[in-house]
Amino acid sequence: MNKCFFFDRDGIVNVKLENDYVKSIDEFVFVEGFFDFFKLVKEKNYVVILVTNQQCIAKKIITTNTLDTIHSYMQTKLLKHSGYNFDDIYYCPDLDGTSSKNRKPAAGMLISAIEKHNIDTNLSWTIGDSVTDIEAGNKAGTKTIMVNENIKNIGATLYFDNLKQVYKYFSNTRTL
Ligand SMILES: [Mg+2]
Repeated sequence: MNKCFFFDRDGIVNVKLENDYVKSIDEFVFVEGFFDFFKLVKEKNYVVILVTNQQCIAKKIITTNTLDTIHSYMQTKLLKHSGYNFDDIYYCPDLDGTSSKNRKPAAGMLISAIEKHNIDTNLSWTIGDSVTDIEAGNKAGTKTIMVNENIKNIGATLYFDNLKQVYKYFSNTRTL
C-alpha cells in the first residue's frame, strides 16, 4: 500500500484570493515555500494528490476547460521548479449547501483517491488552510495539518502558521 499526502489547493499550493476565485493562470501564484515542501514530500516517497473545492464551476464563473488549463499550468510549473508534480487531481464543482458527497468537509474525493491509489490512511496526511480540509482529512482517516496563523484547536494533528514552518518540521522529523 502507498502513503499519501492530500493537498488543499487555494491557500496551500497557490495564494488564496480574497473573496474571489482563481479564474486564469495569471491569477495562479504559488505560495512561498511550496516548491521546497512539495519536493521534500515527494522525496519521502509519498503519493501526492490535489483535492480542491471549486464551486466557481457550478456558479459558472469558470468552465471545467479553464480549470483544466489552470491545473496544466500548475503541473508544468511544479515539474520545472520542484522536479515533481501531482500524481492525481480531484476537484469538486458542487455548490456549498448542496449536501455534496465530494465537496469538503465531505470526504468523497479523498475516499475515491484512497481506493484508486491503494492508500494506507494511517500513514497519510491531509494539509489545508481551512477547517473543512481538516474535517475531510479526519473523516478519511488521515493525519491532518492545519496551516493558518489564525485558526488553532480545531481537531488537526499539527498546526503551523505557514509552509516554511511545515517544511522545517518535516525536514527534521523521521515520521514523515
Ligand atoms: Mg484552502
